Amino acid sequence: MKAVKLSGPKQLEPVDIEAPEPDGKHVIIKVSACGICGSDLHYWHSGLGMGGVPDLIMGHEFAGTVIDPGNRADLAAGDRVTALPLDPCGLCAACRAGHVNICLKALKRSIPGNNSAGAFAESLKLRPDMVRKLPDSINDVEAAMIEPTAVALHAVRAAGIGPGDSVMISGGGPIGLLCAAWAKISGAAYIALTEISAFRKSFASDNGDADEIFDPANPDFGSQIMKKTGGGFDAAIETSAADAGINLALMMLKPKGRLVLAGINAHTQAVLTIVAAAREITQKSVMAYLPEEFDTAIDYIKQNRINVEKLVTNTTDLAGLDTAFERLASGESEEIKIVCKTGI
Ligand SMILES: [Zn+2]
Ligand SMILES: [Zn+2]
Repeated sequence: MKAVKLSGPKQLEPVDIEAPEPDGKHVIIKVSACGICGSDLHYWHSGLGMGGVPDLIMGHEFAGTVIDPGNRADLAAGDRVTALPLDPCGLCAACRAGHVNICLKALKRSIPGNNSAGAFAESLKLRPDMVRKLPDSINDVEAAMIEPTAVALHAVRAAGIGPGDSVMISGGGPIGLLCAAWAKISGAAYIALTEISAFRKSFASDNGDADEIFDPANPDFGSQIMKKTGGGFDAAIETSAADAGINLALMMLKPKGRLVLAGINAHTQAVLTIVAAAREITQKSVMAYLPEEFDTAIDYIKQNRINVEKLVTNTTDLAGLDTAFERLASGESEEIKIVCKTGI
């Protein structure tokens, strides 16, 4: 089968590899669509997958049709499915406490598209209990957006956003925009989104759920926000993982405000802990999502309560993946989310 391998920093190589064989246990699917995620861009830059895995086939935001149902008696060939790209051990302290998204053994296990073969390929082998049937009303491109929608839901829940809250979201990429959508659904009274890129600012104001979009470099931002919120935001979700974004969020929160760090940065960061201390800010970090949050994302997309397709600014195919990564990494292209259509 055709696949695309990450063979080095910024090197995507088309390869012909053996397709996964039915083994009576795993579900084998024919991939139809797979989104390019921010974490894929991190892997692409470094040339290595999670935990330093070489020659990774990336892709963890996917949809497809069942080729072989494995041990899932409720599935049949041709069923449309997606799956959680998680492989919790079920035995470690985190798993036993129900936090399967932060399984302590994760790095040593098979997480599709992160440290084992993912969906930038024609077919894919999946852990059976992670597979979810797709409702007919969710198309393949929307289905590729379920995973990031679940990521955003987990962040919004961690921030404890509820009716009446004022919320700052820093970063107008897919996760920032999806966090704004969930914050609105959760009853937030005022959502401000900060973004530097001119394209992303205008995209967010045309398509997003934020009430106002700000350039964080605007010197009046702080005073405007203090007036509008009566002394700072109740909660902030930081998706950029940039020092400046984290520090701005800390400064814009009210005393006892809540900060969720939802971005990924592999480097040591310069964070103004004095600001966090002076306001007794609660800081939380998040990773992935729980299975029930993934299922909630499916439900809300199915019911059209969250519109994910509008965030997909482009599609490509396996042959065009290289260019798509270059475009997303350039920081100058007018893209929010690119979905690779593999078999459709
Ligand atoms: Zn992702
Ligand atoms: Zn575990």
